[in-house]
Amino acid sequence: MTNHPAGGDDSRDAISRPAPTPELRSLPGRARPRKEVLRKVEEANAELRERLPSALWPLMVTEAEQYYRWRVQLDCGCVDEVLTLGEERLPSERQWRGPEHEWLQKGQMVCVHDDAPPAPYRDIAEWGERREVTFPADPVEPDDGMDPQTWAVLRHDEPHTSAFWKVTLACGHITDTIAPDLGWKPEDGPRLCSVKRVAEMTKEWEEYWASNPTEQSPREREHMRRMLSQRWPTPEPECRCYTCCFVHWIVAYQRVGWLVPRKAAPKRRQSPKPPSRAALQRRLQQAEAEAERLRSQLADLDQ
Ligand SMILES: [Zn+2]
Ligand SMILES: [Zn+2]
Repeated sequence: MTNHPAGGDDSRDAISRPAPTPELRSLPGRARPRKEVLRKVEEANAELRERLPSALWPLMVTEAEQYYRWRVQLDCGCVDEVLTLGEERLPSERQWRGPEHEWLQKGQMVCVHDDAPPAPYRDIAEWGERREVTFPADPVEPDDGMDPQTWAVLRHDEPHTSAFWKVTLACGHITDTIAPDLGWKPEDGPRLCSVKRVAEMTKEWEEYWASNPTEQSPREREHMRRMLSQRWPTPEPECRCYTCCFVHWIVAYQRVGWLVPRKAAPKRRQSPKPPSRAALQRRLQQAEAEAERLRSQLADLDQ
């Protein structure tokens, strides 16, 4: 899309880390009380049934009896609890959703940490929904830390409306970006500054960076340079992704059991279906991988 792909050389974000092979093991801590989890599922289902016509219930409502419980450990060390449909598919073999309900990569989950790496810039890959937001007039007094002259320039003295667009970034995550004005559409392309103005801005910024070498992080500086080289486009063709920096891989999992214990399950299915050949093969592979891991641990001990 651009000559200078936005991005991140920060190897700390999960997109740049290779997917681990999760292992089955006992995890620290304990599972949540089953009744509590069951109550939450039943409340969510009751809410769905209220919102949806009953014809859609079989498609949209997952009965508590279908859920299997797992505990998972992420590569940040945190342990979380998840539900899957049935007991065959591992939590690391399915896709979980991100903060904007977007699908994450298989085996990834979001876990927010205060000391997460800075949000990387990602190119905008797709423009989605537009919405308008009206803001009240700004207060006369500037926020703490801003000088009154700058505030006088930035301040809106009347209520104003801005258009926001949902965008999908190159990493697949979703964020919001602001349009230059209410009439702007993605097919218009970004508004650009004149070549003369960009040359002046580039000179001013380079001088500023030369005399304030530690003022801005290299990441921000690289972003500004990319924008200057593209004639300071608005909207910018890249946005910071606040999901990438919170995404983590599942590294281990532990079975907890059915949300509704099997013997207590309603007698809907008279004869439970035997597991399929593919399911049995998958379980065998998992067991063999686990045995292999234990053997290599033993070998390490013997050495
Ligand atoms: Zn975490
Ligand atoms: Zn992202």
